[in-house]
Amino acid sequence: SHHLLTVIPILRGPHAGAVIVVRDVSEVRQLEAMRRDFVSGVSHELKTPLTVIQACTETLLSGALEDGEVARRFLCQIEEQAERLLQLILAMLQLARVESGSEILHVEELELGDLAGDVVDAFRAVAENRGVQLMQQGAATLAARADEQAVRTILSNLVDNAIKHTPAGGEVVVELRASADGPTLVVRDTGSGIPEELLGRIFERFYRVEKDRSRERGGSGLGLAIVKHLCQALQASLTVRSRLGEGSEFTVRFPRV
Ligand code: ADP
Repeated sequence: SHHLLTVIPILRGPHAGAVIVVRDVSEVRQLEAMRRDFVSGVSHELKTPLTVIQACTETLLSGALEDGEVARRFLCQIEEQAERLLQLILAMLQLARVESGSEILHVEELELGDLAGDVVDAFRAVAENRGVQLMQQGAATLAARADEQAVRTILSNLVDNAIKHTPAGGEVVVELRASADGPTLVVRDTGSGIPEELLGRIFERFYRVEKDRSRERGGSGLGLAIVKHLCQALQASLTVRSRLGEGSEFTVRFPRV
């Protein structure tokens, strides 16, 4: 196989000599490629809101400030984009913590029924605004061993996505199942669905299906990457099934209690 030898000479001191570092080149190359992708992904995501902020500021400075109503509109846009930048940075920090394993998880016995109820309540207004019916189904109580905040984040991201991708008149269901393989959470929607060949890619950071690329919808493309890593940390399995034009179903199965 391909190995990379790095010779680091040590010239001073009683132990003069050299340290030889051997690494598999393909692994080094892969890491470099990942780092490049990450940097270009981050740069791209930061660029869009910053460009809008810059354009608004220029317009304000070149006269729009004189008209109170117009000025207000531009300032609102600046505020919105700044909020988006902040959310993006918070999501990146969270992903970095989860990926590096430095996110401290408190795994304890949880009642998934209550937790799902909280998340459904939190998203009720969002769903109503979009004309989407949001419901909780299945077992009323269901115990699992997991970290509460992590499960909230997982569920919130899945429900948020489901609502975002479901047209008015559709429905989003959060279902609890006491499966023999372990307590299971299912988030199902009757939305746009995801092309089968892209199902493997949606968990990559910054990845968005073509139609969602226009940043107008907001979203960082980090949500599912965070969900994936949290599930890994909780030793929960995460699967997705989807049919284009019919809807998607994300399933999280926790270890047996
Ligand atoms: P985003 O911030 O864009 O929502 P995510 O990582 O959460 O990023 O999702 C990645 C992409 O996967 C989304 O941009 C979208 O194209 C697709 N996706 C995620 N959930 C769904 C869903 N329930 N229905 C259809 N497409 C989805």
